[in-house]
Amino acid sequence: MSSNTRKHRRAQCQCLATCTNPPLENSSFCKQHLRFCPRKSPLTGYEPNYDPIIYNNTRKIRESHNCFAYAFNHMDVPSDEKCSEISCSIPFHQPGRASGYPKWSKVKGKRCPDLIARLKGDVKGLRMTNFTSKCPGKTSKIALVADEDQDYHFYRQDSNGMWSHKPGATKVTNLDADGRPIYDPSLASRKYNKSGLNYDKFCSFLCAPKDKKLKFKRGGKHSSYRKHSSYRKHSTKKRRQHTRKLKHN
Ligand SMILES: [Zn+2]
Repeated sequence: MSSNTRKHRRAQCQCLATCTNPPLENSSFCKQHLRFCPRKSPLTGYEPNYDPIIYNNTRKIRESHNCFAYAFNHMDVPSDEKCSEISCSIPFHQPGRASGYPKWSKVKGKRCPDLIARLKGDVKGLRMTNFTSKCPGKTSKIALVADEDQDYHFYRQDSNGMWSHKPGATKVTNLDADGRPIYDPSLASRKYNKSGLNYDKFCSFLCAPKDKKLKFKRGGKHSSYRKHSSYRKHSTKKRRQHTRKLKHN
């Protein structure tokens, strides 16, 4: 198990990796760090605003954009034929498809080095960074994580300094898997018990350009394949359906 694999089972204070105080309910922080956290991810001024309504309110947008598109603030409104309020059957954008990487169905697992190579292929000028470094001008910080057997996931830093994400075809949220606001996605909870998705690998923080129109390509299964059914305990079928809804491919 490498050092970037999250071993913590319980929610932890997101101020410092070394903080062992329990986080307060509905908070990113423990009591000590609630008032002040010395460790920060500096803003560049190019961060998008946290405005979930844009992605959440219509089925057409909500079901045609996944975490990848959302993290890069990429809006690609499909035609009514492919995705409307009544039915949506368009696949999501996938990292590496625009730069000619193989479909996920041809690759075993979703691993950080492969994901990062794909992103660098798709997005010129993308570079790796860490939580405390400031990204260069005209870029803002995003984060890539992986459940290497099943799925990848992205977060983005918004202009309020906090982080948000869009799990698959579901709504944009600023909460982690434990329902806590995300101050640092590398310390946030990323284990979803209902779907069985566990994004335990933290791949990297990245500086994503915000001054150019990106070219992403859609691919894979139709999003209508992800059924909107609620998960019931001990039902493999329901669990699979729920996973499909949350997964990004
Ligand atoms: Zn703390």
